[in-house]
Amino acid sequence: VVDDVVLDIGEGDCGSWSSLSKDEDGNSGRSCVNQCISSGCIGEKCFPQCNSSSDGGSVHNPWYMQEPLYLKWKQSDCLNDCRYYCMIDRERERQSLGLEPVKYHGKWPFTRVLGLQEPVSVALSILNLLMHFSGWLSFYILLQYKLPLKQDETYYEYTNLWHIYGFLSLNSWFWSAVFHSRDIDLTEKLDYSSAVAILGYSLIVSIMRSFRVRDEAARVMVAAPLLAFIATHIMYLNYYKMDYGWNMQVCVVMAFAQLLIWTIWAGVSHHPSRWKLWFVVIAGGLAMLLEIYDFPPYEGFVDAHALWHASTIPLTYLWWSFIKDDAIYRTADLTKKVK
Ligand SMILES: [Zn+2]
Repeated sequence: VVDDVVLDIGEGDCGSWSSLSKDEDGNSGRSCVNQCISSGCIGEKCFPQCNSSSDGGSVHNPWYMQEPLYLKWKQSDCLNDCRYYCMIDRERERQSLGLEPVKYHGKWPFTRVLGLQEPVSVALSILNLLMHFSGWLSFYILLQYKLPLKQDETYYEYTNLWHIYGFLSLNSWFWSAVFHSRDIDLTEKLDYSSAVAILGYSLIVSIMRSFRVRDEAARVMVAAPLLAFIATHIMYLNYYKMDYGWNMQVCVVMAFAQLLIWTIWAGVSHHPSRWKLWFVVIAGGLAMLLEIYDFPPYEGFVDAHALWHASTIPLTYLWWSFIKDDAIYRTADLTKKVK
């Protein structure tokens, strides 16, 4: 087998930590995929989406089936299925020889369930989404119905910032579930873009909250350069080049910066719920190690990345609990001053 070192396509929402990995899907794998694409079959198994364009695109097809986008989708779906079934064949062969699993196009061999590529990561992404939804909902109820209001507005100065945070979190977990269901060019771009958006936005929030940026003009001053960078980075990934290594660096710097800001702030602010902040920061940092010590899926289902998605579920609960504590704490402080 020819071992070719390829740039890791990465797996997951910000890509893989290891920028280089050995992909053992060498010559035999490639010829299997090429043959599959041209013939549309592997042995007995055939894929209808591989026989595209030859039918000349009937005029009676609905508009969305005439579009080049639809053809592109079909082609990448064909490539996806060919790679998957070639991989299954190859892994079966390797297993019978007593060999360890290897990565294929930067991904571990997973067992598909109901056509879902990584069923466990899909389920965990949905659970993360639900956790964010319930956290956000209880935050909303707390501020609108439980805490005092002044002329229909909350005393808490960061209400809208957390609402946007909630929306961007839901958005990124939604696309994470879609991406882990089926990894094609489009779903990958959507997932990576929304991951960068929430990561960059939460960096902005961490600065606003810890430096108590409350003045509208000051908020614009802080947010504008970061928003400009995030928007440029997302457009770069989508329309210029999907640079996995560079994206990884951007993600790591943005994640590290906010962990640092929260840690220092928790230390100096004497916030009554600072232990929650510390717990989330430390446990979140430890969970990131799972992304570094990448291991193959157990029984074809649970890999390091899936465990990482599992770890963020309880942390999300604690995080929203901290946000609610902060709202209560700030509101109490501000209403005391009013009285
Ligand atoms: Zn993921």
